[in-house]
Amino acid sequence: MQKSKNPVISLLELQKQIFGDDLFMPLPEILKVQPSPHQAVTTAIKSVHIDKNTGEQHVQPVNQVEPEMAHEPDNITENYAVPSYSRATNLDELNDIICNCQHCVLGSTRKKFVFGVGNPDAKVMLIGEGPGAEEDIQGEPFVGRAGQLLTDILKAINFSRQEVYIANIVKCRPPGNRTPVQEEIDACFPYLAKQIELIKPTIILCLGSTAATGLLKKRDTLGHMRQKVFEYSKIPVMVTYHPAALLRNPGWKRDCWEDVKAFRALYDKLIS
Ligand code: SF4
Repeated sequence: MQKSKNPVISLLELQKQIFGDDLFMPLPEILKVQPSPHQAVTTAIKSVHIDKNTGEQHVQPVNQVEPEMAHEPDNITENYAVPSYSRATNLDELNDIICNCQHCVLGSTRKKFVFGVGNPDAKVMLIGEGPGAEEDIQGEPFVGRAGQLLTDILKAINFSRQEVYIANIVKCRPPGNRTPVQEEIDACFPYLAKQIELIKPTIILCLGSTAATGLLKKRDTLGHMRQKVFEYSKIPVMVTYHPAALLRNPGWKRDCWEDVKAFRALYDKLIS
């Protein structure tokens, strides 16, 4: 009978397969204080607070974050005459209420509404940009090649796809896989805000700049937002590449690996 492989060896092989060589710094190292030639110590991950009134950013070591919101969702009923979704008490109820939504033009071109998938009590929530062609057909986020890569990335940091929750900034496919425009993001955001409110994740990972800027209401590049900790409604938020971008640019996988290791380390710290 063939002997089954040690799970640790399998995990390391998977990490190597996804992210390449020389990427095996142990996870806890990410959050340890790093020596610097100019300072006695520096902290690897910073937290960025955004002043709601002035728009100014304040960078702090993550262990000095004050329990204050960097950004509150906009008043979700003020701008959109949406139905009673805000009173939904669980995800199924919310899905039933909004699944025929036509509040933006994407509603008229979608094949399937893509609500989100995963554990309704997830501690980890992933947010992407919007459904692609395959997601539009299947009605589920992150299927196809990018979805498989996301599943592999999660596995490499010891999360299963079943234990997390995955959603998008917009729930209907932008034609031709274009980036959703601000009007569409604004129209759809209240639904995502309600999902987050119901799930109450411990931590959120944004996949790509559209997800990050859409959630954090912050104009910045992905490069500037990586390796920092933001907050949405008091929930820590980190940012990394969208798996589809990694498929187009495999050279970014190394940076993604650093991001997800830091994400895992922060998660471990938060739940310990
Ligand atoms: S993208 Fe969002 S707001 Fe637009 S139609 Fe779809 S569900 Fe409604």
